[in-house]
Amino acid sequence: MLQTTIAGSLPKPAWLATPETLWAPWLLEGRALDEGKRDAVALALRDQEAAGIDIVTDGEQTRRHFVWGFVEQIAGIDFSKMVTIGIRRNRYKADVPTVVAPVERRRSIHADDARFARAQTRRALKLTLPGPMTVVDTIHDAHYGSRARLGMEIARLLNDEARELAALGVDVIQFDEPAFNVYLDEVRDWGVAALDRAVEGLACRTAVHICYGYGIKANVDWKGTLGAEWRQYEATFPLLARSRIGGVSLECANSRVPLGLLSLLGDKDVLVGAVDVATERVETPDEVAAVIRAAMEHVPAARIVPCTNCGMVPLPRAVARGKLEALGAGAALVRRELAGR
Ligand code: ZN
Repeated sequence: MLQTTIAGSLPKPAWLATPETLWAPWLLEGRALDEGKRDAVALALRDQEAAGIDIVTDGEQTRRHFVWGFVEQIAGIDFSKMVTIGIRRNRYKADVPTVVAPVERRRSIHADDARFARAQTRRALKLTLPGPMTVVDTIHDAHYGSRARLGMEIARLLNDEARELAALGVDVIQFDEPAFNVYLDEVRDWGVAALDRAVEGLACRTAVHICYGYGIKANVDWKGTLGAEWRQYEATFPLLARSRIGGVSLECANSRVPLGLLSLLGDKDVLVGAVDVATERVETPDEVAAVIRAAMEHVPAARIVPCTNCGMVPLPRAVARGKLEALGAGAALVRRELAGR
């Protein structure tokens, strides 16, 4: 009951990549970089275990960015043709590569990462992949001429990758779809279909993370424009309730999402974000427990997975560690209450 997990990423050590920076360049090269990434994964796993996190991740320590880790290995996407575009409906500018030919997966992308992380921990292991719509929104298409067509092709490649990871003993595969809160019409028209294609036939548990973004300024400013209540999920949740996805991860700590909307998710697991990633203030276990209890008014505890609001990669490492501990301790508080009933 109330098994904890994190959205996915953790800060990287300062010897591996520039701290508190998205898309941070690596500070090592060649074999030292390979070794450094693995050391960082091992440390990320130890930090989660020590904090009592039940479903651990590799902290995304081997990827420069949650979309790039996948996209860099896809044939048909040309990284010598970088274009500056406004992503997430122009919320921020990014230099992105160009799709110039049919996309194909050259080889397995995260299999080595999965094998290494699997051998490093006995806890349940979750790995994250970018969702099809978020990939489409973070590359420039000069070949397909249709976001939906490109999205379904990306979904096919993601499904091939996810099947390999599941076969290597990964317990949960999560697709990250921050674009789902931005393009509500496209979610209805092809986004959920692409997500269903990505999870088709997977033997492991699955989840989708749909969020309002990291705690960086562009996102905080955007959230300020969304009004007193964030009701985007009202359109998305009924579609997800009918989809193949196993669980939905969303931000609930300090968010303006009316928690009553959680009841629109049908019988899905709910990864309840109970730790805010937009502030460096570390929550108390009581504060985390309060968010979990609030979610329990709308979702049975058996389907709640206490989680972070989003990835913690932009945070200072000590802050992220404190938040991990608060999450583990807060969930333990509520578990004790439930056991005492
Ligand atoms: Zn997120």
